[in-house]
Order: sequence, then structure tokens, then C-alpha cells
Amino acid sequence: MSQEFEKEVFKIGSELLKESAKQNQLFFKKNWWYQKILSLTMQRQSLKTNLFRFIDVLPNLSTDEQFLSHWNEYFKEDELRFITSGLGSLAPSLLVKTIRSQITQVARMFITGSNPEESLKVISKNWERGFAFSLDILGEETLSEKEAEVYFQAYLSAMEQLKQAQKNWPYQKALQTDAEGEIPSLNLSVKASALFSQVKVEAWDYSKEQIKKRFRPLFQKAVKEFFFINMDMEYYHHKDLYMEIFKELLMEEEFKNYPHFGIVVQAYLRESLEDLQGLIDFCKKRKQKITIRLVKGAYWDSEFLMSQQKNWPIPVWTKKEETDLNFEKALALLFKESKHVKIAVGSHNTRSVACALAHHKNYPEAQLEFQFLYGMAEGLAQALKQRGCLTRLYCAMGELIPGMSYLVRRLLENSANQSFILNSLMKKESPEKLLAPPALPADFQQDSKKESFSNFPAPDFSKKQNRELFQKALVGWEKQFPVQAPLLVKSPASPSSFFSRENPNQKQQIISKTAFVNREQALKAVGDCHEFFPKWRAVSSSKRVAYLKKTAELLKDSFFHFASLQVYEVGKTWEEASADVAEAIDFCSFYADSYERLSVPQLTDKVAGEESFLRQEPIGCVAVIAPWNFPLAILTGMLTAPLVCGNTVLIKPAEQSSLTAYELVKVLLKAGFPPESFAFLPGKGEEIGKALVEEPRVSIISFTGSLEVGQGIFNKISSLSKGQGNFKKAILEMGGKNAIVIDSSADLDLAVKGVIESAFGFQGQKCSACSRVIILEDIYKKFISRWIPAIESLVIGETKNPESSLGALVDEASAKRIKNFLQNQKESLIYSSPIEKEFANQAHVIAPSLYLSESPHSDLMQEELFAPVVSCYKVKTMEQAIEILNESKFGLTAGLYSRHPGHIELFKSQSEAGNVYINRNCTGAVVKRHPFGGRKRSGLGSKAGQADYLKQFLQAKVVTENQMRRGFSPELFE
Ligand code: NAD
Repeated sequence: MSQEFEKEVFKIGSELLKESAKQNQLFFKKNWWYQKILSLTMQRQSLKTNLFRFIDVLPNLSTDEQFLSHWNEYFKEDELRFITSGLGSLAPSLLVKTIRSQITQVARMFITGSNPEESLKVISKNWERGFAFSLDILGEETLSEKEAEVYFQAYLSAMEQLKQAQKNWPYQKALQTDAEGEIPSLNLSVKASALFSQVKVEAWDYSKEQIKKRFRPLFQKAVKEFFFINMDMEYYHHKDLYMEIFKELLMEEEFKNYPHFGIVVQAYLRESLEDLQGLIDFCKKRKQKITIRLVKGAYWDSEFLMSQQKNWPIPVWTKKEETDLNFEKALALLFKESKHVKIAVGSHNTRSVACALAHHKNYPEAQLEFQFLYGMAEGLAQALKQRGCLTRLYCAMGELIPGMSYLVRRLLENSANQSFILNSLMKKESPEKLLAPPALPADFQQDSKKESFSNFPAPDFSKKQNRELFQKALVGWEKQFPVQAPLLVKSPASPSSFFSRENPNQKQQIISKTAFVNREQALKAVGDCHEFFPKWRAVSSSKRVAYLKKTAELLKDSFFHFASLQVYEVGKTWEEASADVAEAIDFCSFYADSYERLSVPQLTDKVAGEESFLRQEPIGCVAVIAPWNFPLAILTGMLTAPLVCGNTVLIKPAEQSSLTAYELVKVLLKAGFPPESFAFLPGKGEEIGKALVEEPRVSIISFTGSLEVGQGIFNKISSLSKGQGNFKKAILEMGGKNAIVIDSSADLDLAVKGVIESAFGFQGQKCSACSRVIILEDIYKKFISRWIPAIESLVIGETKNPESSLGALVDEASAKRIKNFLQNQKESLIYSSPIEKEFANQAHVIAPSLYLSESPHSDLMQEELFAPVVSCYKVKTMEQAIEILNESKFGLTAGLYSRHPGHIELFKSQSEAGNVYINRNCTGAVVKRHPFGGRKRSGLGSKAGQADYLKQFLQAKVVTENQMRRGFSPELFE
């Protein structure tokens, strides 16, 4: 920016600061408790976190007892003293009342009312004071179509009520006109996510149509009744989808000429300038202006954390100064193009606002307004209004309870140390500092550190290219069906049989014909692998590691080939299939890295004259017997671990996923693994699996599958068979009957979503799936009343269609078994999803179903079903919940949704499971981050996805060498 421009910004900014300071004094005098809390939280970070967490859980605390128990757990004694000082010493019940009312008062400072009547009073009053408004309806996350409909109706009726209220408002020229003429005084901000509960970016067109369906009547009403409608922006992941919806709707005949629509651009997004340019170009094409509300963005923490967890590029600027700079660039662009767009500046930062006003001097024709969150930066809003600027308040309306999370976000923003408001209000920074142009610290560097291992990111389906690649791969497979998978072992005779695999979602479609080996061929392969073992172990570790790294690379190259195959072979959704392939890649890279380290002999201790090294050596021939439910990931992990360690491997995949296994084996060969280092033995479990288990030349059985088969293997290997030298080792990963506990203080937005993902993801056919939900009695009704409509809203159908969240079970045998089981049990059915007839006829479907169990020992509460069937169980206390949870022969995963610190701690220490998840779903373990494996009858072995897993395929040898030769030790003379 030029010096002149900077001077202007400083001049305007100083005037604004002076004026707003006057106004702010008045504001803060009224709200001493809020002011006190703000200054407290500024001094103490931990208090701030606890206070916000407490406010977040407050809506759930319906009794005094619950309130006090949380209150005392969230805060340390001295913190409590701080918070309550000035309130006097109060009896517990009075304390509860007082704190509740204080917090409610604070909430009222930011939320205009809990219903349209209350809100309209505030809006009308502000209208009279000279402030325009935009109404925003607050609420819980939309989890079901029932809730989406409620939101939709709420928007419609709010429009109706606003229209009525407007009749009594005085005419305000400044608020109802701009240079181009009349503008609507009625203004609504709408969130797309409120209107549709099943947004999935992979189902791009479907999601678009559903959201448009709900937006259209609102837009029609807007045109008819002269409303302004703004589309709010939320998470980055949905940004492009919403922008596209907005643009397409605006091009529809009935909306194409209406100029009173707006959309938000968030300057904290790295892509925001391109998006802005895209919107400007769109306006040029449409030949109508839209209003662009430029904000910095309210979801920074979530954006940052979510992208880190998924290992996707961080979509936001990581430094506050970068966002500020970008905001100013965006402003400059908006003013330059102000012939085509109207500008709404949504910032509470005086520097940013002053910048906009300085630009306005150069572009006086530009249509400019300022927007403020109701209750924030009152002083600045007043100051702008006094200057004659159109100033609009973004007025949130909603129940205090669902409004809490909104409130917490506002408070967070307010008390963040970097926040401008605090700097200006409490810290009394100088105008020079407050109005200085945003600049990055001189030593600022983008973080470019790279660790040796990082998880492979699953594709982001909000990117068109990824959706197209997936679709193309699906079509590619369909053209090849049925794929022939011939024998890969050196065969003494022709194969005994061919196995035909049908698509579980479309029984008529045969996708593959795999040559199954017979017993004779399998035994011959064991002999070959046994013979090759000494040669394979003699290959250098670095070479073996290189083969494995190459395997990871090749899998990456054929990512969509593998992911789309799973859709047909086992019936996974796009997302589930992608996660499986990403995990397979992770296993390869992680085990390669881990073995690289393990293969270096370790000095155990150093004593002069003697050297002891621990070396890890392979064991022999390993039989890998795998399940079908993670067709690529589990098989890859199970076989690459022993192979990279120098063992030879007999690969026995599950019948149902033989084609994926065949494709994987081709990759192993391409990566350089010698064909003799493993044998591919597709075949029947009872025949080939059994033969391998009994084979004396097999040293280790690595099995993942059902308890029944695992137990059989365990029994078998306990006795030595004829010709067997050593004891066999078995690594057994088996089933689960995993439970999630819903505590009274659970965040239901999270819990409902998490339980659905955990219980119904891949039709409940994950070992980690949740099949028992243990619910605290006092939240049971509330939870169920949101959960059932959310299940009802899931799209059930062929999983090649990306909108489907659920498909059919893996095969007929499985579906039959479940049907029989359910027919013979006596628990009461609470809910079962309807299935479309056509789909039920073409696929092996089991409807998502909920039962209410009376006894923790019933079959439904105890037996693993491997289907989307959940038993619910009510309890009175957390202790009882944990007791029920632990009453199981299995111990794989467990979950808890709670915001009670004491309960969380109790759960962490008392739950008997190998993987315990708090406030998130209980499936989807990630390599390295969540080493995975169960206890009790769920597992016997070290967790997968960590370095220790490899040690199961190695035997340690300690070599101690006396370094002294006739009293001479070389070290002493070095
Ligand atoms: P399954 O036990 O039927 O089959 C697993 C494998 O064992 C298959 O390759 C099968 O052909 C083979 N097999 C079958 N009978 C055999 C026998 N008599 N001797 C030797 N091998 C035999 O299991 P599945 O249906 O493929 O998989 C689902 C089960 O796997 C569930 O119980 C699930 O919980 C479990 N599982 C556990 C984990 C874990 O990490 N703990 C992971 C995935 C799946």
C-alpha cells in the first residue's frame, strides 16, 4: 500500500478508535461480570479453556447435582474463588442459580432472543437506533432430515414474522437505500448445512440437488417479499459445493435478475482470493451484482485440526497476520471490481474497517456496508453509524441451549490474546500499534519439517479430480467383470475349482472367478517357501525394505483401482474403501521404516572389553490367514510385516476378497519381491487355512478373523504334530462386541454422529464396530429422539452410488445367519430402517436396527453379529455403565461420550478394551497414531500399526563377544 493510503487509514482509524472508546466505556460498565471474566481468562489460559468447556456442557446439566459435580470438577479451588468473587458466599443451590443467570445474561448479550418474538424486539429497537440487521437462526447440528425440515420451516416462519414486524418500523433511508435505489430492509442469513443432513462431497450432484431443493422456496419468498438472502459459509470442506449451489441457483430463471443475494468469503482461507475472483467473474457473466460479505473466518481451530488429522493441506493461513494481510488484499480487489459487486465488511478490527473506508474514498461509487456480530464491538459499530455508514448487525436467534456453542465461539474470539478487541479495550494499546499494517515477524518461516513417516492422506472428495478418478475407476472395473484370477503358484496339477464372487449389492453381477488352490498345491507351496527361507533371510535388510517402500509407491499409483474394487467386491462406500487403501499404504511405509530401525543390531550395554548386541532374526515360514472386511489393509499389514523381516509367507486371503488379494500380489511382484518369497494360496478356509495351520513346516500362524476359527487354531497348535521341530506361534486377532457409553453430559451432536459411524459404517462389519450402546437413563429419551431420525435419514443402497451411506452385507450366508439370529431372539425392537424393495431383491441387505436389551447377558448383548444391529441398554450410573461394558468375552474397542472430567478418567482406567475412544467414533484406527488390537478373546498378539508388531515375526538373539585378547582391549588404546 502507498504511504498516502497508509496515512489515510491511520487518520480514519484514529477517529474511529476515539469514538468507539467512548461508546465502549458505557457498554462495559453495564456488564461487570463479563468484563471480569474476560480479564481473568486473559491472564490464565487454563481457566479460559475450563470456563468455555463448562459453558459448552451447561445445557446438559439439568439438575443442581449435575451442575455442582461438573462445576467442582472443571475448576480448581482458587479458580472458583476468582469466578465467584463479588457474588458473595452462596449456598450451593443459590450458587447454581446465580451462575446460571449470569451466564444466561452473558448469552443474551450475543443472542438476540430464543424465539422470533424476543428477537424481533431487539431487532426493532436497533432498527430504530439506526442499525440494519441480518437474522441468523442458531441451533444444534442438523443430524436428520426431520431436523432439516424444522430448520427450513423456522426460516420460512421467521421471514413471515419479520415481514409483519417491519410494518411498524420507521422508514430509515440510510438503511433502505443505496446509491442504486431501494434495498431490502429484511435480511436473512442461511446456513446450507442446516437444510440438509446428509451432505457428502463425494455425492456432489446429489447433495447439490437436495440443498437446492430446500433453498429454492426461500429464494422464491425472498424475491416475492423483497428480502435479502445471504448464504453463510462454514467449513472449507463444503465451501466449493456451497459456492456452486449458490451460483447455479442464481442463474435459474426466477432468480437470475434479482440483485439481493449475498455470499460470504473467508479471508483466512488460502483460496479466498481465487474464490473472490470467481464470484466477480460470475457477477460479470450474470450481469447483476451480489453482495460479498468479507470476513476473516470463525472456524480456524477446527479447520487447522481437521486438516492435520486427515493429513490434508492446511486450508487456512496459519498466522493471524497472514489472514489480516489477505483480508486487505481481498478488500483491494473488491473495491477495484466494485462496479460488479457490493461489499459488506464483516470485521471488528478497526484497522480492517479503516482500510475499507480509505478504499471507499478512492471508489466513492462502491456500495459498502459494515456488519457486526450482535453484541460485539458495539463502540465501533456506533462510530461507523455516526459517520453515516450502513451498519448491519448479524443477529443470532435461538434457544440458549443450542446457542451455547455459538456463544462459546464468540467468547473465544473475544478473549483470544491476539484479538483486536481485547487489545483495544483492555490492554490499552496505542493507536500506532492498533492501526499498524499487518506484518509477519521477520523470522517467520512456513513450517516445512517432514517426518520420515506420515500417514497417506485419503482423497479429498471435495476436489473434482478425485471424484472423477474414483468414478472412472469404477467404470473401468465394470467393463472387466468377471475378472479371471488364475493360479500364481507353481502348480503340480490344474486348480481344483474356480470361485465365483458376486457383487453383494447386485447379486446378478459376477465380478471375479478366482482359481482356488487345492490341498496338494498348498502343501507344495509350503515346501517351496520353506526351502526358499534361508535365501530370503540372506537378502540384505535394505533390499527388503526397498521392496516394501516400492510396494507403497505402487499402491499409491493405483489408489483408485484398489479402492473402487472394494466397492464391488465387498460393498464398501467410497469413503470406507478409500480409508482401507490409505491404511494399506501406511502399513507398507510404516513397517518399512520400523524394520529399517529394528534391523540394526542394538548395543545392549557397554562394558570395557566386552560387547553385547541384540540382533533380530526372522523365524521361518509364516501362514497369513486374513479376513475380507478390510480386504487390502489387513492383508497388506499381515503379510508385509513378516515378509520385510525376512520370513517367507503363505498368503491365504478370505474367499470373499480373493480378487483384491490377487491384485495385491501382482503389486508385490512388481515391487521386486522374489516370487519364491511368498505363495498366493486363495482357497477355502476349512480346507487351505486348516492345512496351513496343521503343517509342521509353518512356524507362525498369523490369523485375523472370527473367534470361532481363531479358537480352533489356538487349540490345534497347542500340540506338536509329527515331524514338527518347534512350537508354533499364533497371532490371533478376533472379534468384538464393542460398546459406546452415552453419559448424561454427552454432546449429542457429536454422539449421534459418532455412534452412527461406529455402528453402521460398512454395515457394522468391522471388528471395531459398535454393537452395544449403553445409555445413562436421564439422557436416553433425548438421545434416541435424535438418533432414530438420523438413522432414518441415511441413504441405503448400492454403494457404487456415492450418496449411499450403507449397502448390503458381504454375502448371502452372512445375511441368512443374521436373519436367523434375529428371528430367534426376544429383545424388543425399537427401530428398523425401511429398505427399498428393489434393493432388497437385488442384494443381501440387513436393515439398520436397534433393540432395547433387558439383560446384559442376552445373546444380542453378547454375540458378535457383524451387521448393522445394535442393542441398547439403559443404566443409572456411570459405574454401572462400565460394569455392563466389561461384561463381555471380547475386549476390542470401547467408546465414551461425556463432558464430565471424573467420568472420563474413570472410563479411561476401568474400561477393558484394547482401544478406547473418548468423544469420537470407535472405528477407523490410523497406523502409528492408534496402534490397534484387542484383549480378552478379541486378540492375542501385539497391536498392529506399531513397531512392536514386527517383533512377533522376529526372534531376538544376543551376541556377546569378549573383546579382550590376552589382556588387551582395543578400546583402551583408541
Ligand atoms: P472368518 O474367521 O470366517 O475367516 C477368516 C479367515 O479364516 C478367512 O481367510 C477364512 O477363509 C479362514 N478360515 C475359515 N475357517 C478356517 C479354518 N477352519 N482354519 C483356518 N482358516 C480358516 O472371519 P471373516 O468372516 O473373514 O472376518 C470377520 C471376523 O474377523 C469378525 O469376527 C471380525 O471381528 C474379525 N476381525 C478381527 C479383526 C481384529 O483386528 N481383531 C480385524 C478384522 C476382522
